[in-house]
Parts: sequence; structure tokens; C-alpha cells
Amino acid sequence: VCGGGPAGLAAALWLGRYRRKTLVLDTEEHRNRKAEHAHGYLGSDGCSPGDFLDAARSDAVKYDTVRIVSERAVSARREGNGFIVATDKGEHRAQRLFLATGVEDEFPDIPGFDALYGSSIHHCPCCDGYEARDHSVLAIGWGDHVAGYALDLLEWGASVKVVTTGEAFDGGAECWSALRRHDIEVIEEPIVELLSDDPGMTGARLASGRVLEATKAFFSIAHKPRNRLAQELGCTIDELGYIVIDAHGETDVPGVYAGGDVTPGEQLVQAAAAQGAIGGIACAMSLRGGRTAPGAPAPGPDPEEELSGDV
Ligand SMILES: Cc1cc2nc3c(=O)[nH]c(=O)nc-3n(C[C@H](O)[C@H](O)[C@H](O)COP(=O)(O)OP(=O)(O)OC[C@H]3O[C@@H](n4cnc5c(N)ncnc54)[C@H](O)[C@@H]3O)c2cc1C
Repeated sequence: VCGGGPAGLAAALWLGRYRRKTLVLDTEEHRNRKAEHAHGYLGSDGCSPGDFLDAARSDAVKYDTVRIVSERAVSARREGNGFIVATDKGEHRAQRLFLATGVEDEFPDIPGFDALYGSSIHHCPCCDGYEARDHSVLAIGWGDHVAGYALDLLEWGASVKVVTTGEAFDGGAECWSALRRHDIEVIEEPIVELLSDDPGMTGARLASGRVLEATKAFFSIAHKPRNRLAQELGCTIDELGYIVIDAHGETDVPGVYAGGDVTPGEQLVQAAAAQGAIGGIACAMSLRGGRTAPGAPAPGPDPEEELSGDV
């Protein structure tokens, strides 16, 4: 399993329940690591992302065939009927691969951004919009998608302003008129300082000296799926860079599964964990009737094969 976020750990847990020998390679750069709270996971709404993953890791390694190591997978190739994954510390051989490496976000270049990211500055309206209810909100970005992003934020914010941090806004005439219709000002000026006091952000100072009063900001610039291993293995990647999987989490390269943010669809902890569970179970079941790694219990028979009358 390459990647030990919610998708990879859910896959590992289920592989462990099927007693498959499972190694999770993880660099602990899970996407929401800077967020104070993770919202919307049923039963754990509002938990700390770090505590959530600590618990998930403990759940997975409860199964004695599962191990998690701090290694970065740097390349992957097919060898015989299995795979070799090279890491920054060595090589591992596996019969199956589960890719759950997530995505990498691009951040705006704003002084003071890091100190407020995850508490007053957020990424995803769906994840943290509720916490911005009745706040004055800045939508930071310049791509044409930022118009929809800013309109989304009106679901919760008392007011929304788009700040492009000095870039030219990329939206066409429809974007400008939709934003105008909803009193969303577009400001194409750099932010030179984020203002805050104890509970969090209070505003942003622009290059012109104008101060925008705002207690929440959301940004949307770009994010890049970490799809290098999938590319090396020859998996189909969609036009946005996501790894294409079927309903069982398998890619079009037999034996390679994927799940979580690196695949198309909603980017949420619960969705990632669900995809990890579905792909992990399918991956475990695909070894039935075969052999597994030395030291792990032999898989059971393949019911389909046994009942087909061909045995
Ligand atoms: C600021 C922020 C707040 C968010 N808040 C919420 C929220 O409130 N609710 C919600 O549902 N979702 C939230 N999300 C989205 C959520 O974080 C993701 O949907 C979720 O983390 C995806 O899980 P994943 O397992 O696919 O990827 P990740 O959690 O990103 O995990 C990927 C793991 O793979 C590891 N990795 C990557 N490449 C390699 C490699 N080559 N070798 C080894 N390891 C590797 C990384 O270190 C990381 O640990 C938020 C996202 C952000 C950015």
C-alpha cells in the first residue's frame, strides 16, 4: 500500500482482516495535516486529523500481518506476476499494489499564510464552510473556477470577496456578471499582510494600503494528483491527472488498485476511507485460490472457481 492516509489505512485494515501480508509505505504528509479539525466523518465529526490517523494506524496494525513503515515509494514496476516498489530505503516485492498517495495542493504566496492555514484559512468550502457561517469571507484565487467557488461560499458566508493576489482574474464575462449579481467584488491586488488577533484572522492588507475586513479565507489555486507510480505502471490516468479505477477500486493494470484523492470523485476523508475499504477487500479477495507472501496464512479457495465446475 503506497500512502497511509485514510484511503491507504482503510485498505490495509481490510487486507489485514483477510490475513494478507500488507506493508504500508507512508511519508505522513496527509493532505489535511494542517487543519485543526476534520469535519463530516460520521462518528468522528470535528476530530483532529492527527488523532484520527493515529487511531486508524492503531486499528490497522492490530492485525498481525499489517506493517506500516516510514518510506517514500519512488518508483514501481511489474516483475513476473508481481511488482517491485523502490523506496528511499530499499525495494519491496508485492503481488498486489494499492495506490493511495493523495494529491499535492498549491498554496498562494501570502505573508503570514502558514500561521492561519487550517484555523482561519481553509481549502474546501464543503469541509469547512459551516465554520465560516455568518463570517466575512475572502475567496483567494484567479482561475475561472474561482467564480463558482466564491458563489459556493455564499452558502455560509455573510459576504464574500474574491482576491486574486495580484494576478489577473481569468473568468469570462459570465463569471464577472454572476459575481456582480451577488455583490462579490473581485480585487486584483496582492495581499501584503494578513491581520489577526488571538482567535484568528481579522483581515487582509492589500498592496494599495486598503484593508479588507475578513475573518475567514478560502483558497483554490491548483492541486496535483500524486500519480507517478500509476504512470510508471501504465495505469490509465484521466485528463485531470486522476487514476481511473473500476467499481472495485482496480485500475486497468491487473493487480494494481487505487483509492482516495488520487482517484476521481469527492475529496473527503469518508470517501477516501470508503474507497480504501472497497479496494482493499477486492484486492484481498483477488488472491483467493492463489498463494500469498511467505509467513502469511494461505488464502482460502476462490468460491467462483470452485463452483464453476471447472476444478
Ligand atoms: C486543509 C484541508 C482540510 C480538509 N478538511 C477536510 C474535512 O474537514 N473533512 C473531509 O472529509 N475532508 C477534508 N479534507 C480532504 C481530506 O484531507 C482528503 O480527502 C483525504 O485526506 C484523502 O485521503 P487520502 O488517503 O486519499 O490522501 P491523504 O490523506 O493525502 O494521504 C496520502 C498519504 O500518502 C502519503 N504518500 C504520498 N506519496 C507517497 C509516496 N510516494 N510514498 C509513500 N507515501 C506517500 C502521504 O504522506 C500521505 O500520508 C481536507 C483537505 C485539506 C487540504
